[in-house]
Amino acid sequence: MKEIVFATNNAHKLKEFRSMLGKDWHVLSLADIGCHDDIPETADTFEGNALQKAMFVAERYGRCNVVADDSGLCVDALDGAPGVFSARYAGEGHDSEANNARLLAELDGIADRHAHMATAMVFLADAASEPITAVGKIEGEITYGPQGSGGFGYDCLFRPTGWEKTFAEVDDQAKNAVSHRARAVKALVARLSESSLL
Ligand code: IMP
Repeated sequence: MKEIVFATNNAHKLKEFRSMLGKDWHVLSLADIGCHDDIPETADTFEGNALQKAMFVAERYGRCNVVADDSGLCVDALDGAPGVFSARYAGEGHDSEANNARLLAELDGIADRHAHMATAMVFLADAASEPITAVGKIEGEITYGPQGSGGFGYDCLFRPTGWEKTFAEVDDQAKNAVSHRARAVKALVARLSESSLL
């Protein structure tokens, strides 16, 4: 069976990726390859961070077929913030609740609530090869307060365009049918198939 490393330990991301790649591929996590490093993410774009993670694994661990992703929330009225700082918008070591509170405070009194969630995924055949990149996006609005208790991160404040509910008010299946991450995975798998890499 062919092996591919997904530079994550997030069980949900691994499951989704495994189901989309099919049975010919054995998807390994960072833990599976013995990588417990705090991989740097210092780029100013999602693509840059995903490439940085994939390159780290390909170079340091000498792995072929490495995939990495980076995601976040971009709010129009905040010039795209929190963007690559989504996980630490309220500062290092803060949780989603603090990030959400900051987001609502920044948008206080602002009527334009338009935002999108985005994921970039990068595939490297090896450290010397040209990266293959795919992006997935979903447009929506930031609500005026938390709604729902499911999901994670900004889900309770993000209502996709045309929806009456936030991501936190629907089950995983409904979210995964349209999410930025699912769209990016789908686009990457399609690009890899086109390039005969899968
Ligand atoms: P990651 O790159 O997928 O780890 O995402 C970075 C940060 O973006 C997360 O810690 C969340 O704050 C935010 N984020 C990414 N995807 C989602 C999502 O699907 N829902 C809510 N927040 C998300």
